[in-house]
Amino acid sequence: MKNEEQIWRIVEDKRTDFQALADRVWAIPELCYNEHRSVEEHRQMLEREGFRVTTNVAGIPTAVMGEAGEGGPVIAILGEYDALPGLSQEAGIAEPRPMPGETNGHGCGHNLLGAGAMLAAAAVKDWLKANGIQGRVRYYGCPAEEGGAAKGFMVREGAFDDVDIAISWHPACFAGVNEPISLANTRIDFTFKGRAAHAASSPHLGRSALDACELMSVGVNYMREHMPSDARIHYAYLDAGGIAPNVVQAKAKVRYLIRARSLDELRPLVARVRKIADGAALMTETTVETQVVSAVSNLLGNTPLEEVLHANLERLGPPPFTAEDRAFAAEIQKTLRPEDISSSYRRQGLPPKEGESLPDSIVPFNAKGAGMVGSTDVGDVSWKVPTVQARGATWAIGTPAHSWQAVAQGKSALAHTGMVHVAKAMAGTALDAIRNPELIRKAKEDHRARTGGKPYESPLPADAKPALGMSLAE
Ligand SMILES: [Zn+2]
Repeated sequence: MKNEEQIWRIVEDKRTDFQALADRVWAIPELCYNEHRSVEEHRQMLEREGFRVTTNVAGIPTAVMGEAGEGGPVIAILGEYDALPGLSQEAGIAEPRPMPGETNGHGCGHNLLGAGAMLAAAAVKDWLKANGIQGRVRYYGCPAEEGGAAKGFMVREGAFDDVDIAISWHPACFAGVNEPISLANTRIDFTFKGRAAHAASSPHLGRSALDACELMSVGVNYMREHMPSDARIHYAYLDAGGIAPNVVQAKAKVRYLIRARSLDELRPLVARVRKIADGAALMTETTVETQVVSAVSNLLGNTPLEEVLHANLERLGPPPFTAEDRAFAAEIQKTLRPEDISSSYRRQGLPPKEGESLPDSIVPFNAKGAGMVGSTDVGDVSWKVPTVQARGATWAIGTPAHSWQAVAQGKSALAHTGMVHVAKAMAGTALDAIRNPELIRKAKEDHRARTGGKPYESPLPADAKPALGMSLAE
């Protein structure tokens, strides 16, 4: 990895502090809107770095923003720090072993995502100051990416209104520009209410809310045949009505997660699922209430920004992994199936390479990934302002996100190397935008072309609020 550019040397000088931040957050894995200790770590780091700090962004206690610089364009760099339930895992080993007394784990690498993004923002801040250049850089600490989609609420509340461009990244197995495809989605809780009764002596008096949930699942499962093939519907029972089979279940709650290529495809699907819920209530003489927990838009790409990010990655070269990094990654690979590794290449549009545990090149700009896609709340930011995302190589090739292997690598030397590498690429991209107003103009033009000039419309209902204090397990 080359360091001849001033901005990259600034990143390099700061790396130790930010690796330590990523490690501290790794050690306190917190879930969806409950990231109180993690956001405190981020807030303190922003203050130490001399950012002007705003807490409680968009009324969310675990969201934070730090700004530096004066005048000029506003560059947003987005980070995250939420973890996942059920993924507790010790660091630095290639076997599954949960940490004693801990159930959560950083299975999506958001400890790195947050620290790497703030490292890029802090380097841009120092560069602006050192060179006396006009421009503002902001780090947005965004909570609840997993399950809460906080960025949608932050966009809706105006947190990005004066931003010119946004930059982010995500931990991955390869380094490159993130292919801008993701699904729009929404999570809706359906709560059915019936009437309890003795299930043997007076079943005719009871009306089962659990029956309603089950009939709703049957209806939705039949609907699957008649929806666009990219669409996805998943569900989880949050409350199955209790543990007593001899009591007719008076209350039951199921969470649906509905995904589609675009909001235009998503909306009719959601309406159909709601009709099925009404039908299940009608069949069982129960009532149903619904609550939208989150909603995200699909991701919009931005060609001018993607080209510049890619050029920065190419100038940097691949992350300088050491022989020890490659050896540890190879140990991790031994715990994966050959399909995990081959599908990891396929998702990037790359031919599989025998014996490669960590990437030794940047993913080519026009590599077309073939594979399944998920969703991200960066989607809503991308509808509001021109947005670009990188992938950072922080995991052995083949590591699935949301796995114990991802957690085990989350504070390894290889993850730190991948994080610092991507921070340099993001900081370089921010500088290109600050130095070159034409790039921002082109990025905005590209954005207008993709949105058809329509102002951003939040997919959240007006009365939807962030599900603060929500536990994914509840
Ligand atoms: Zn993630």
